[in-house]
Amino acid sequence: MQKKILGWRCGNRCAIPECRKELIIDRTENDCESIIGEMAHIKGEKQDSARYDPNMTDIERNSHQNLIILCRDHHKTIDNQPNTYTVEKLYEIKRLHESWIKESTGKRVIDITFAELNIVTKYLISNQPVPSESYVIISPRDKIKKNKLSSETERLITMGIIQVRQVTDFIDKFPDIEFGDRLKQGFVLEYNRLRNENQISGDDLFDGLFDFASGKSNDFKVRAAGLAVLVYLFEACEVFEK
Ligand SMILES: [Zn+2]
Repeated sequence: MQKKILGWRCGNRCAIPECRKELIIDRTENDCESIIGEMAHIKGEKQDSARYDPNMTDIERNSHQNLIILCRDHHKTIDNQPNTYTVEKLYEIKRLHESWIKESTGKRVIDITFAELNIVTKYLISNQPVPSESYVIISPRDKIKKNKLSSETERLITMGIIQVRQVTDFIDKFPDIEFGDRLKQGFVLEYNRLRNENQISGDDLFDGLFDFASGKSNDFKVRAAGLAVLVYLFEACEVFEK
């Protein structure tokens, strides 16, 4: 979970402001993604590491607050130049980077269009016959509480809620009248698979569905669209504990 929180906050980009290089290179036709980012400890990991602080516990050392994601070159640079990249300087770089990512993600959320929704709904759609049972609407806020979702997940849901109307419009305008139901069913099937086969719940379950909804894409817009659809379905479907 610490790594996931860090991953979201860093937006898959190097935190050094002059760099901000993308750290995941998209998959190609023949290969999967290539990760060129590295997780660095602000206060060093081992006794002989740069910026080591003996007065902290291992849990504190490996918490997302003490980690920063950088490209390979900058990871090496900060460790070779500890007098330039002090603990204070790195905390500041991390803080500025995370707020920059938060701002740009917020902006992208507003920008999603039918084009992105078209992409993500393809991942979610089920081609199996639609059962006749109806879906009950439950307030997301109640679900967040009952499923013990963290404030980090709640923040994501709040971001997705902004776009739910866009998703509703998209589904209403779709020529196939069963589209909305097939979308819900695809989501319910994945929810059940994650829960029963992978035995996960709460935040991990939400993360799993989020990855599924955005086709594991790293593209900002596709992820925002995946989140919007996920939150729409989260509201509309009888899933998660209520
Ligand atoms: Zn870099």
